Amino acid sequence: MEKKTSQFKAEIAEMLDLVVNSLYSKKEIFLRELVSNASDAIDRAKYLGLTEKDLVADSPEWAIEIAVDKTARTMMVSDNGIGMDADDLERSLGTIASSGTKAFRQALKEKGGEALPELIGQFGVGFYAAFMVADRVRVVTKKRGTSQAYVWESDMSGGYTVEEGGRDGFGTSVMMHFRDDQQEYLDFWRVSDLVKKYSDFIAYPVRFRTVDVPADEKEEDRKRREEREGKPLNTMVALWKRAKKDVKDEEYAEFYKHLTHDYDGPFETIPFSGEGAVEFKALLFLPKKASMDIFMPGQKRGLSLYVRNVFIGDDIEMLLPTWLRFVKGVVDSSDLPLNVSREMLQDDAVVAKIKSAVVGKVLSTLEDMKKKDGKRYDEFFGAFGAVLKEGVHVDWEHADRIKKLLKYPTARSDAGKRVFLEDYVKDMASGQSDIYYICAEREEDARRAPQLEAARKHGCDVLLFCDPVDEYLTESLREFDGKKFVDVAKGDVQFGSDDEKKAETEANEKAAGELKGFLESVKKELSDKVEDVRVSTRLTDSPCCLVAKEYALPPSMARMMRAMGQGAPDEKRILEVNASHPLVRKVSALSGQELSDAVALLYDSALIAEGSPVADGARFTKLLAGLMLK
Ligand code: ADP
Repeated sequence: MEKKTSQFKAEIAEMLDLVVNSLYSKKEIFLRELVSNASDAIDRAKYLGLTEKDLVADSPEWAIEIAVDKTARTMMVSDNGIGMDADDLERSLGTIASSGTKAFRQALKEKGGEALPELIGQFGVGFYAAFMVADRVRVVTKKRGTSQAYVWESDMSGGYTVEEGGRDGFGTSVMMHFRDDQQEYLDFWRVSDLVKKYSDFIAYPVRFRTVDVPADEKEEDRKRREEREGKPLNTMVALWKRAKKDVKDEEYAEFYKHLTHDYDGPFETIPFSGEGAVEFKALLFLPKKASMDIFMPGQKRGLSLYVRNVFIGDDIEMLLPTWLRFVKGVVDSSDLPLNVSREMLQDDAVVAKIKSAVVGKVLSTLEDMKKKDGKRYDEFFGAFGAVLKEGVHVDWEHADRIKKLLKYPTARSDAGKRVFLEDYVKDMASGQSDIYYICAEREEDARRAPQLEAARKHGCDVLLFCDPVDEYLTESLREFDGKKFVDVAKGDVQFGSDDEKKAETEANEKAAGELKGFLESVKKELSDKVEDVRVSTRLTDSPCCLVAKEYALPPSMARMMRAMGQGAPDEKRILEVNASHPLVRKVSALSGQELSDAVALLYDSALIAEGSPVADGARFTKLLAGLMLK
């Protein structure tokens, strides 16, 4: 192969500039990134070696080396892991990780520079951190299972080159030539401190080696040097195997960052172990914020599974249900065979037991938090509530426990406050037997909805379902504490005691009788828009509102079906009029064109009141202007 020079993709050039100039306030983390990559590379080699013995025929002692040359001002971080071939190099170091530059730029645009450190982690640009301290980086690598080594080199400004090269043994070496003002990293103690600080739990020994040993090194210096270079800089103790009391919060936090690349640190750390049927150790984390792609399909990584210290995989759904996909961490069990394939794990009984224990632990942690520290729970729920809710829909086994963890804003709650279902039930009006809710895209619209009027009058609070998932969930929520969920904007809803309901029905029948002719002509006027026109039980102040039929498809579902090109079924709604409203009485006395215009205005005003768009705005304004002139 000829030496090949390539330009970084434009986005990368821009990225590199950001990385070097504004990204990490602490440049020192470049070492963490490189050691972390080295460790991942060994994990992968080890894992593949389980089934493809040839790959590890050189039976290496897995290790990471940091070789420093003070004279040449270089540091080389080497591993004997999986290595890379020319394609890998191009893919991994020529473009920003596969997760997508486009997504990265998009996110950057939306979130601004503030969010950079968080973004960097999510989009895998760890390797580029080397350019924060180095003006030249050279990667020499040989992939296991191949015979040709390659050299990747870049000084950032002029793109990068890839050419064939030579390397003893498999693996990767990243050589950095430090910038003038970054010489501190040539010092043994500085490096040693950094490894302890960021990479202590890395499962492979990280050793230091002095390259430029002076020819005339004194005997005692040599002894001292050899002694400190003979020992790994890290303790290699898997954090999840240590007792909680022996681990400092900072250690957990560093491990979390290593695992997730979320530099914000964890929100909650949950170490626990399974005993009895299946033995395992787990270290779970709840992040502070949801990653930006949490609602994108095709999430791949979940909890990392180790079997006797060997990393097996972190495929989502192996150990976590999707509604807990925000949980991060590690599970280590010696009850699984080492040679399991990932596919086999999907239906392994031991894995199923671990999964169930993990779910139980996360739920009990949340239940505890809810009980002991409501404010903290609100923080959690604000970040992940919408994901947790999915569990009600897909996980029948846990639906009841999940429901108790859900919070909603209500018609009565202050904006921004949410209420647990059990508190809603506790505060139900006397005689109220159902849980009321209303769906809307925005909380403000829900709060203003005319459909809430009668509920308010009867002292009934109404849950506001404004999360996009809420509407889908209404089907699965079914009931809570023996009480049905009822949509106040759908079907027949009546409030108050049985006597009140009876009285209301009678009054309505009477009103309907009086307004019979009017209702019929309105129905005729609006025949292409509404299914029916009737007297309402839910209005007190507004003249009219639109309600869905009892078994109507939720509007969001209908929108989705249309978006997918499947014509949604007829979703005409019902126009309900407030029989005791003076406007209704007035309009009912009209006829001819006057009646038509007034009915059109009434209908449009019902749409506006619920926050829906009016089909023909020009017509609406014209009618309104005409009315005002009168
Ligand atoms: P991330 O590690 O988050 O994916 P990096 O920019 O650090 O992002 O690395 C990009 C990719 O380069 C890695 O996913 C991996 O495939 C490859 N890579 C980096 N360092 C090594 C290494 N030491 N050995 C093998 N592959 C590596």
